[in-house]
Amino acid sequence: MTPVPPRFRRGITLAATGLLALESVRRGLVEGSFAESFPMGVAAWSAFLLPTLFRNCPWNGPVTRTFKTQAREVWLTIDDGPDPADTPEILEVLGKHQATATFFAIGRRVEEHPDLAAAVTRAGHPMQSHTYSHPSASFWAAGPTRVRRELGDGIRVIRESTGIQPTQFRSPAGLSNPFVHARVSQLGLQMVGWSVAGFDGVPHSPDAVVHRVLAGIRPGAILLLHEGPVLGMKPGTRARTLARILAGLDSAGYRTVIPALGNSAALHGEVGKPPLEMGFDLRRKR
Ligand SMILES: [Zn+2]
Repeated sequence: MTPVPPRFRRGITLAATGLLALESVRRGLVEGSFAESFPMGVAAWSAFLLPTLFRNCPWNGPVTRTFKTQAREVWLTIDDGPDPADTPEILEVLGKHQATATFFAIGRRVEEHPDLAAAVTRAGHPMQSHTYSHPSASFWAAGPTRVRRELGDGIRVIRESTGIQPTQFRSPAGLSNPFVHARVSQLGLQMVGWSVAGFDGVPHSPDAVVHRVLAGIRPGAILLLHEGPVLGMKPGTRARTLARILAGLDSAGYRTVIPALGNSAALHGEVGKPPLEMGFDLRRKR
């Protein structure tokens, strides 16, 4: 059976939302029946919201959550930088372990620290876009204008600071909607999620992060870690945690790679292998 292309799925979602919303208004205003209008309104919202409630949900467009390989290789990704306290130490640890990572950067932080952004790419690590302002609590509901601005500005500042044009995008908290996917597709970007999260974007125990990440490694896994301050975290924690994870990967015979664009499970119809995770716990800032 031929799968339904994402743009049709986005169209179905928006059409269902629009029709249900119109019907809700008609029953409320024309027929004066609030009892019928209300459930219709809820149904309209539900049609739009349902796919946005799951992190890395592929309903509205492809999301790369693993990559194809038979070898002991994982893709390490580090979000929310650059950060003056963490990025230099992280680069040092990556260099020491001859490891590589993709940095999904926040545009505003790139603008504040263009030297750090340039240092990342100079060290040979790709820098990709993670929006301009990282509105993690509301991006799932962003309309077309806001999506256009977040993606456009986020990409522009990375290009201006590093000289390299981003080709990949990661949504804050992994939550997105039809407008986000439509823009990602228009800009020719690849939406990248993850299969293993350290949950280190919020106050955390480094031991638990190391354990969780190492427990999830398998060929083709995409690992998600963060940089930047978290309440109560001691300086140097990020780099020490990363060093322990890289040592764990080394002893398990794994190495970090940057998969070639196109060599992704999303493009091979294998998206959906890692279980979908509910995204309503917005305290878990990514
Ligand atoms: Zn994030």
